[in-house]
Amino acid sequence: MARLPILEYPDPRLRTRAEPVAQVTDELRQLVRDMFETMYAAPGIGLAATQVNVHKRLLVADVSEDHDQPVCLINPEIVEREGTTTYEEGCLSVPGFTDSVERSAWIKVESLDQNGDPQIVEAEGLLAICIQHEMDHLEGKLFVDYLSELKRSRLKKKILKQRKLNPTAPEPASAPLS
Ligand code: ZN
Repeated sequence: MARLPILEYPDPRLRTRAEPVAQVTDELRQLVRDMFETMYAAPGIGLAATQVNVHKRLLVADVSEDHDQPVCLINPEIVEREGTTTYEEGCLSVPGFTDSVERSAWIKVESLDQNGDPQIVEAEGLLAICIQHEMDHLEGKLFVDYLSELKRSRLKKKILKQRKLNPTAPEPASAPLS
């Protein structure tokens, strides 16, 4: 197992649109294990392959307190959605920053599991929010894209300034999202 480096905004690689997974191989399963380890260590509740610079349609999540409800979605597609909900989101790729984003409150997602078998996940609450956030990553989209342009450009300046002032500092504490 290995912890993987997480790309940080405004890294242009976070804008890559992920390709579908053609086959669930042992190599891919190893990536899934590494992504879980990286997510739990961060700590976060979700991680998209895009964030670890692998541009395949794959995400992991676990919104439980005890890390005992791991969810792995390969080639996820939202086939049904209902309602709306707003949550103060954070992102491991935008450390130290949160803002509220509106998402669907309930979703039904078709995907493959780690064995390559089809699975249907119905999610609401935090898991639904997390899956939508991670699926955005697979499209090269970040939660900060939902902010106004002014707010986003201020955030970008702030992050670049922090990095310039203290380029070797450890990562700032992240909000416990993905
Ligand atoms: Zn994120």
